[in-house]
Amino acid sequence: MHLENLTKWNTEDLRKLCLEAIKREGITENRAITIVHLRKRLGSEITGWAFYHVNEVCIRVPKPEVKVSVIKRGSDGRATEYELEPYNFSGENCVEFVQVLIHEFCHNKGILHKDLINYKDIKCDWAKEFSIRPTELEEKIPRVDVQLKRYQQVLSWIKSWEIKKKRAETFLKKLMVKKRYYEKELERRNEQ
Ligand SMILES: [Zn+2]
Repeated sequence: MHLENLTKWNTEDLRKLCLEAIKREGITENRAITIVHLRKRLGSEITGWAFYHVNEVCIRVPKPEVKVSVIKRGSDGRATEYELEPYNFSGENCVEFVQVLIHEFCHNKGILHKDLINYKDIKCDWAKEFSIRPTELEEKIPRVDVQLKRYQQVLSWIKSWEIKKKRAETFLKKLMVKKRYYEKELERRNEQ
């Protein structure tokens, strides 16, 4: 097998999955498999294409950073909400990958769509055990919002000076009490 991986998914993980599919399908001749990313930004359905009578296939998979909607189900199994999560290339998604791969292998053998079962009906539950790791995602360096940072700095200064102001006010109040006390005392002394 010649594997060309043009995606941000781990090549060794993909190789293992493809080799297992080839072994289980009993394919002995060499296959060229190219794996690319789906062009659609939000697409999560794996697609593929193949040549007839040429042992070459191409499979398109979602990008690791793509966010796909995942249905959350309640205990009764009914959909409660949809959430956006990064594409998880394991379990059922590995099954889908192998279903598409096997479908394309059939085209290599010259089989036309009219003679093929729907690829979703291809049984390959074994692929559920597989999982494809993303290669390290490009680290997105967060752009520092300078104005926001300065505004937050101002807020923290205000907070700290307000605390100082409160302390000063309390201290001044105490001093005023003392002042009045001494004024009264001195006045009394003068009166005597
Ligand atoms: Zn097809």
